[in-house]
Amino acid sequence: MSDCIFCKIISGEIPSYKLCENDHAIAFLDVNPAAEGHTLVIPKKHCLDLSICDQESLQGVIMLVQHVSRVLQRSKKLDVWGINYLSNQGKIAGQVVNHFHMHVIPKYSVNEGLKITTENVVNLIPLKKVQENFVKTQKKMLKGRFSKF
Ligand code: 5GP
Ligand code: ZN
Repeated sequence: MSDCIFCKIISGEIPSYKLCENDHAIAFLDVNPAAEGHTLVIPKKHCLDLSICDQESLQGVIMLVQHVSRVLQRSKKLDVWGINYLSNQGKIAGQVVNHFHMHVIPKYSVNEGLKITTENVVNLIPLKKVQENFVKTQKKMLKGRFSKF
């Protein structure tokens, strides 16, 4: 994708602090880190988001995420206590760059790094209904009714 920032980082057109790579993914430091060592792991092949990512790329990304997390945890300079793994999908969920990426955000203390808050929604559909709907939709998908998948 010619106008994609992350594709330009992969090609070297835009500089980045690259950390490591494998055949299908690369890892580099987020330019606006939420914590020290905040890393982005992206597939080398352009793809919008996780839900439509091909299997090879997805495997490459998750293996590299695991590798990055292991190195960060071993670092003597960084005293990593925990890690948040995050991928925002869609504008409403906070996706700004339209090239699938996983955030690897080290946690050093309760008040630093990623803070997760969720709203308690009232009048939720009963879990049984949600489960039934999921299973029904999945069945349709497996029968090939949704060509998209
Ligand atoms: P999103 O909000 O899409 O999940 O996250 C996009 C992330 O990409 C942000 O955390 C932002 O700081 C990072 N980012 C955007 N442009 C660049 C860039 O040119 N270089 C690097 N290294 N990170 C970027
Ligand atoms: Zn791209």
